[in-house]
Amino acid sequence: MPEMNAFPAYRGRMEYFCLGCGARYGTEELHYTCPNCGGVFLLRDAGFDTLRERSGEEWRTVFDTRAGAKSDALRGIFRFYELMAPVMDEADIVYLGEGNTPIISSSNRLSAQLGGQRMAFKNDGQNPSASFKDRGMACAFSFLNHLIRTRNLDEILAVCASTGDTSAAAALYASYADGRIKSAVILPQGKVTPQQLAQPLGSGAVVLEVPGVFDDCMKVVEHLADNYQVALLNSKNAWRILGQESYAFEVAQWYDWDLAGKAIFVPIGNAGNITAIMSGFLKMFELGIITALPRVFGVQSHHADPVYRYYAAQPQEREWHPVTVEPSVAQAAMIGNPVSFPRVRHFAERYEAIAGPGSFQVVQVTEQAIIEGMLLANRHGHISCTQGGECLAGLIRARELRLIDAEETAVLDATAHMLKFIGFQDMYFENTFPQSYGITPDPARSNRPELVIEAAEKERLAPAEYTVACAQSVVERLGLKAR
Ligand SMILES: *Cc1c(COP(=O)(O)O)cnc(C)c1O
Ligand SMILES: [Zn+2]
Repeated sequence: MPEMNAFPAYRGRMEYFCLGCGARYGTEELHYTCPNCGGVFLLRDAGFDTLRERSGEEWRTVFDTRAGAKSDALRGIFRFYELMAPVMDEADIVYLGEGNTPIISSSNRLSAQLGGQRMAFKNDGQNPSASFKDRGMACAFSFLNHLIRTRNLDEILAVCASTGDTSAAAALYASYADGRIKSAVILPQGKVTPQQLAQPLGSGAVVLEVPGVFDDCMKVVEHLADNYQVALLNSKNAWRILGQESYAFEVAQWYDWDLAGKAIFVPIGNAGNITAIMSGFLKMFELGIITALPRVFGVQSHHADPVYRYYAAQPQEREWHPVTVEPSVAQAAMIGNPVSFPRVRHFAERYEAIAGPGSFQVVQVTEQAIIEGMLLANRHGHISCTQGGECLAGLIRARELRLIDAEETAVLDATAHMLKFIGFQDMYFENTFPQSYGITPDPARSNRPELVIEAAEKERLAPAEYTVACAQSVVERLGLKAR
């Protein structure tokens, strides 16, 4: 079926739908929040029902055939074009290698430590800027290209406030984009790690610093969005949510569209990612592409757990309260007032209506469990960041609470590459955590480099003797046997 690799002909009718007041808006304008009530939007395809003209079986064949596509527009997240943002033309689509990240089954050794648990990590740190944020950014920038072309704009200024991965992704895509997209990132001065600052600087972004914390930056960019012509790329931006749905589509495709007996673990920060993942599974279910919804477990740290607290209450007693966060090693999820919470509530309701109670849950884990979850994963062949460690901690917690058994396959979202958050590993190994994290490193889990010989010896010994002395020290340390 070679025609299946051609760019799709289907075009949807996308509209913004406000979760606050129900208002709808066309997508010719770039909306950030609802002009009527300030609520968050979902983007919907008003033509979605016409997609039912193909059976689930036919859709599976379309996507499986497209998996071999050689065109840039179809080899990333837009393999699932009709399910995401089907308004763009092939030329609008940006591809920098995002999506299609590997799912790596855990080794028997790791699985055995969790009572024989079936489990795998999906390495979203293998996206181009080393986090899942690239999925949403590829979609948002493709839409900006679409707007520029269809509206004949001569310039769009794209701005985001972020402490890390969002700005790295935005700066990367901006550096590749049409010259008519100008971009800037706004960061809290002195509150970003060297790696997080290095990425937008290296991409050549205009990096503006605001004295204060992330929330101060957010207020600045929202003021800009209210009063100036600027596209905000923060996670309220509904186009980013659409791109992030690709995670769900890829999980389904990898497991041959059979998601019975699967449990998907996702860290919750601003809650955009878990929203997108639930939305993606629901869309596939509605079209018969999958016939069972996987269970979804959100995971939050006890230092930033407003969504956990909400769902921990009995349904009739649930009340939404933002929390004040405390320092977290899952820094990318350290958010007390997640902007996408209304989206989570919306999709969780729909999810439970179909898959029943227990199909969506949120578990809470300690900071100690998060960092040790990351160390455990990475000692067994994974490349997980602290948020991926949070997922593993969430799985361990779910086992303790008997919410999941060993036969169910847990798919853990390693949302970024381990190297992005490596400062926390250093703090654990060097025992330098500030008290506020509430983490006590276990010396048995620490790993430090060992010097084989004092530097002064190098001065004292002749070169050949020095080599032998170093080697001798290595022999003793490793207990090597002579040949
Ligand atoms: C943004 C981010 C999160 C949190 O995702 P939300 O969509 O804000 O819930 C988790 N991990 C990493 C690495 C991130 O960059
Ligand atoms: Zn509204």
